[in-house]
Amino acid sequence: MAIKVDFRSDTVTKPTAEMKFAMMNAKVGDDVFGEDETVNELENKLAVMFNMEAGLFCPSGTMTNQIAIKCFTQPMDEVICDQTSHVYRYEGGGIAYHSMASVRLLYGERGILTPELIEPEINEDNIHYPNSTLVVLENTVNKGGGIAYTLDQIEPIHTLCNIKGLKLHLDGARIFNALVATGDHAKDYGKYFDGISVCLSKGLGAPVGSVLLGSKETINKARKIRKAFGGGMRQAGFLAAAGIYALDHHVSRLATDHLHAAALAEALGQVNYVSSVMPVQTNIVLFDVAAGFRANDIVHHLAEKGIACNTTGPNTIRMVTHLDVSSEMIDMAIENIIHLHPTAHK
Ligand SMILES: *Cc1c(COP(=O)(O)O)cnc(C)c1O
Repeated sequence: MAIKVDFRSDTVTKPTAEMKFAMMNAKVGDDVFGEDETVNELENKLAVMFNMEAGLFCPSGTMTNQIAIKCFTQPMDEVICDQTSHVYRYEGGGIAYHSMASVRLLYGERGILTPELIEPEINEDNIHYPNSTLVVLENTVNKGGGIAYTLDQIEPIHTLCNIKGLKLHLDGARIFNALVATGDHAKDYGKYFDGISVCLSKGLGAPVGSVLLGSKETINKARKIRKAFGGGMRQAGFLAAAGIYALDHHVSRLATDHLHAAALAEALGQVNYVSSVMPVQTNIVLFDVAAGFRANDIVHHLAEKGIACNTTGPNTIRMVTHLDVSSEMIDMAIENIIHLHPTAHK
């Protein structure tokens, strides 16, 4: 049966007619020469928004994260991050490959790090130890079911990094979901981070792109690394225009995605084949199937009803809401979730 609603990821959105119009009419130039007005506008817009000096438009969030890690480390350094982090789990081993750095994995509650967790893992200066030079946070935390850090939680981590001389990078693939959920302001982020990756192709609904924010010095270095990674794009303004459109039109509506996710979670909390649903704060719903059921079977049954989602483990399923999920689709999904009667295995 054809898919009627796609909860696999917030990356599946397609550009709206208005977004395509903005893309088609973009003023472009050769961005490797620094001549693409629309790319420059997007980079400046986000830098101003987050109170940072400069920005760099890249093809993906993986690239902005990996460039940042390369900017902030030397070979033989160590990166501190949560064990669920995208930079560690889902970027193809890029930290080792691009930056030749090791990784110190922490076990935060739902992936949320604290100064108490980080401090004991910072290596002192000793010939045996890699140099701890960078902490990476993720906001919202993907594997933590979309939980958001507040700035109150980030500030003491920044203070610790400052005292210990470590850089602090934010994987903000879903930073706007965090801002909408917490009420924190983007402009307050700049003073806490050395680098911020902002994705445009997740909940914001642009087809491609992520922007790395940092100081002028960091971004100059990052621009050269991007070139070496093969990420220097030419008339990229067509893509940047989609990002500008998304920032102007698709931020406040994220609150709707969060309501949709909460409604799904509520329905899932009522059915016998689900044992627990992680509390929902933003647009990600993570739930465990009850004993006797298999996540793969449930995903298959839902697919037969036109509802696409993925497993994230043998007993865990993820649903993500986004721009292309309407309230009608949520109603349809809830109806099907409640009336699904998968058979339990002994
Ligand atoms: C999606 C995502 C990224 C970047 O992914 P790309 O597909 O490379 O754009 C980075 N971090 C997190 C937490 C993500 O969910």
